[in-house]
Amino acid sequence: MSSKHRFSFELFPPRTPEGIAKLQSVTGQLAAVRPDFFSITHGAGGSDQEGTYETLLTVVEHTGVEVAPHMTCVGSTRATIAAHLDRYREAGVKRIVVLRGDLPATALSSAAPAEFHYASDLVSFIRETRGDAFKIEVAAYPEMHPQAVSPSADFEYFRRKVEAGADAVLTQLFYNADAYFDFMERCDKAGIRIPIVPGIMPIAGFSNIVRFCAGCGADLPRWVRLRLEELENDRPALVDFGLSVVTRLCETLLHNGAPGLHFYTINQAGPTLRLWNNLGLKGEETGSRE
Ligand SMILES: Cc1cc2nc3c(=O)[nH]c(=O)nc-3n(C[C@H](O)[C@H](O)[C@H](O)COP(=O)(O)OP(=O)(O)OC[C@H]3O[C@@H](n4cnc5c(N)ncnc54)[C@H](O)[C@@H]3O)c2cc1C
Repeated sequence: MSSKHRFSFELFPPRTPEGIAKLQSVTGQLAAVRPDFFSITHGAGGSDQEGTYETLLTVVEHTGVEVAPHMTCVGSTRATIAAHLDRYREAGVKRIVVLRGDLPATALSSAAPAEFHYASDLVSFIRETRGDAFKIEVAAYPEMHPQAVSPSADFEYFRRKVEAGADAVLTQLFYNADAYFDFMERCDKAGIRIPIVPGIMPIAGFSNIVRFCAGCGADLPRWVRLRLEELENDRPALVDFGLSVVTRLCETLLHNGAPGLHFYTINQAGPTLRLWNNLGLKGEETGSRE
C-alpha cells in the first residue's frame, strides 16, 4: 500500500446529548490516524441539514481534519441548497458528498425530491452556480442500486452523474470484491478515470449487518451470513471473524487498484481502528492527493 491511497471516515449527526459527547471522543480517536477527511451524513426527509452543519463545525473544531458534508435532493430546493452552500463555503468546506438521498417511507409526500430528482441534477446545479468551488463526491453501487431498473441503466445514469461534474466516487458497502472489480472494468471501458473509493462497513454484529445489507441491496455472502449467525451469541468470536472477513476484503481491494477506502464508522471508533491496525495503515502518510 502506498501513500497515494486516500482514507475517509463517515459519521452521522448524533441526536442525543450522550451521542454528542460520544462523538467527540470517537472523532478524537479516529482523527489520531490522520484520515484525509470525515464525511457527515444528512438524514432522509430534509430533517437534519442543521444537524449536519452543527456536527461539521464540532468535528472541525475538535480535530482540525477536513470535513465533507453530505447534501441530498430529498427535501431540498434551489434556494435551500444555495443557502447551505453559502454557509459551507463560509465554514471553509472544500468537498461535498452529493446524493439523491434515501426516500422517506412516505415517498410521495412533500419530503420526496421536488426540485432535484436525481443526484446528477444536484451535481449540475452546484457546478452551474459555484463552478469549481467544491470538490464533489458521488455514490456508486457495484452491486446495482436497489431501485434501478437494470445494471446497465444504473451504470448509464451513474456515468451521466460523473459527467455532470463529479471529482470522485464513494461506493455503497459490499462484501464481494469481484463486484467492485467488475464495476471498475465498466468504468474503465466508459472512460471514467476519477477515483472510485470502496465503501467499507466493519462487521460488528449479526442482525445489524443483515439489516444494513438488506436495506441497501448489498449481498452478504451465504457462508459469511451462516458463520455470523452461528457466532451470534459469542461476541468476541463474531468480532474476530468479522474483522478477518473485512480485513481480507480491504487487502484484496487495496492490492488490486482501489484508490483508498471510505469507512462507514456508524459513530464508533473501535471496529474501524481494529481494521486500520490489521491493515497496517498506521503511519501511512495521508493527505489530499487528488
Ligand atoms: C457513500 C454514500 C453515502 C450516503 N449518504 C447518505 C446520506 O447522507 N443521506 C441519505 O439520505 N442517503 C445517503 N446515502 C444513500 C443514498 O442517498 C441512496 O442510496 C439513494 O437511494 C440513492 O442516492 P444516489 O445519490 O446514488 O442517487 P442517484 O444517483 O440519483 O440514483 C438513484 C436511482 O435513480 C436512478 N436514476 C439516476 N438518474 C436517473 C435518471 N435521470 N432517470 C431515471 N433514473 C435515474 C439510478 O439508477 C438509481 O436507481 C448514501 C449512499 C452512499 C453510497
